[in-house]
Amino acid sequence: MNDENFYKNAVELDEASLSLQKNDHQRSGLRFARRLRVPRAVALGGMFFPVATALVATPVSGVWWLLLVGWAFVWPHLAWQIASRAVDPRSRECANLKADAILAGIWVALMGANALPSAALLMITCMNLMGAGGVRLFVAGLVLMVIACLVTLQLTGISLAIRSAPLEVGLTLPVMVIYPLLFSWISYQAAIKLAQHKRRLQVMSTCDGMTGVYNRRHWEILLRNEFEHSRRQHRDATLLIIDIDHFKSINDTWGHDVGDEAILALTRQLRMTLRGSDMIGRFGGDEFAVIMCSTSAESAIAAMSRVHEGLRGLRLACAPQVILHISVGVAPLTPQFGHYREWLKSADLALYKAKKAGRNRTEVAA
Ligand code: GH3
Ligand code: MG
Repeated sequence: MNDENFYKNAVELDEASLSLQKNDHQRSGLRFARRLRVPRAVALGGMFFPVATALVATPVSGVWWLLLVGWAFVWPHLAWQIASRAVDPRSRECANLKADAILAGIWVALMGANALPSAALLMITCMNLMGAGGVRLFVAGLVLMVIACLVTLQLTGISLAIRSAPLEVGLTLPVMVIYPLLFSWISYQAAIKLAQHKRRLQVMSTCDGMTGVYNRRHWEILLRNEFEHSRRQHRDATLLIIDIDHFKSINDTWGHDVGDEAILALTRQLRMTLRGSDMIGRFGGDEFAVIMCSTSAESAIAAMSRVHEGLRGLRLACAPQVILHISVGVAPLTPQFGHYREWLKSADLALYKAKKAGRNRTEVAA
């Protein structure tokens, strides 16, 4: 590849990963806006009646009534439309939440700060602000709400009428009970999704994508832990490295698909034969490694002869002629190892010995 082509490919890759990141950001922003859509519609629709009842007591013009209908029944859907069409739905939705706070401040003022409907509006707005954007958005929204309330009071000259009539109380209380329940349920759903996402990420970061056993990085962490534990508690532990014999020739003769099938077949065989507590990892290619806790070298060798036995009877669906053979290096934990890598090295040397001695066998470290 010449320099010009290399540069062109690198730029294309950069652009592709940038556009993937952009899409991810937009999708998570859309989910964020969607989560707020129903609570906003329920809260504002529910608050229409108490606010309307309170406005009857204060002399406001017809325009405010029209705005009240628009706020309660049109704005929640308009806010969603605006956010869903934005390039950055999350920051657009944060702007919508600030608009919510300003509008709530205006209605509080127009009601003459009627106690219960105002408290309900304050509660709904604060829950949304804190739940969606944390303390920063909460403080920003609260400041906007207070300013909007004071400015409206100043401009309209409405005097405060703080006491709530029984009808206003009766219409507000259901909203004050239902809204926190709805908000908690939505937060719970989001927490469950997040936990599932975390579990998926954890599997992706610790397991080999093809076989599902531990990947090398995570397996080495387990090995280090086991090394420390077993040494501290003077417990037996045995390490095995397993490699398929002449795997390249399987690939070359039958193709990579059959090679992959062979790797999967060996994984299945190991899983079926070994104990659930044995930690199987894929080192890469056709090489696997197993940590057997509280197990002597003799027991590990016995387990491996069961694997050899199982492989003898195993046939690959796409290439029944292929018989899988493996070489195994076994290294029991001994006090001479000062570092887990020395233990690993010892198992590796035993594997080399097995390969050198003609393959299809298990050898123990000297
Ligand atoms: P030996 O008996 O000495 O182990 O010989 P070998 O042919 O098995 O040699 P080696 O273990 O070095 O072969 C590893 C080969 O595995 C090299 C690589 O092409 C192939 N390989 C690595 N990963 C994969 C994979 O995921 N799928 C397939 N099909 N082949 C792989
Ligand atoms: Mg091999």
